[in-house]
Amino acid sequence: MKVYTSTIQVRTRGETDIIDITQRVKEKVTPIHVTNGSLLLFIPGSTAALTTIEAESGVMNDLRKAIERIVPRNIPYEHDKRWEDGNGYAHVRAALIGPSLNIPILDKQMILGTWQQIVLLDFDNRPRSREIVIQIMGE
Ligand code: ZN
Repeated sequence: MKVYTSTIQVRTRGETDIIDITQRVKEKVTPIHVTNGSLLLFIPGSTAALTTIEAESGVMNDLRKAIERIVPRNIPYEHDKRWEDGNGYAHVRAALIGPSLNIPILDKQMILGTWQQIVLLDFDNRPRSREIVIQIMGE
């Protein structure tokens, strides 16, 4: 089995910024000679998350609204009382969505639905520079 590790850098605007990174992830898969295996994506950090969605502005706004209903920005958070960095909601949102994705690779291609894109969600209350770790494992 081979293991390749790589990273991609993404600048975000924060405040539930949703960024389609599918193309940039695909570019990491194609040049590597793993025929079958899997691709792990992980974002180090406790105020950002990874998921898949149809990267279309309507449904991305629907997701933003759903997140706002589940974890409202303007309610008290114990984290904010303790640290005063004002991003308790961002930590909770990131924890619910999760920091990683695992995608199968078959015949040198990621298995993704036609309308399924890989997105980074940045919930922090300020613009951030993010690094996503990609690990490709297979043979
Ligand atoms: Zn914080």
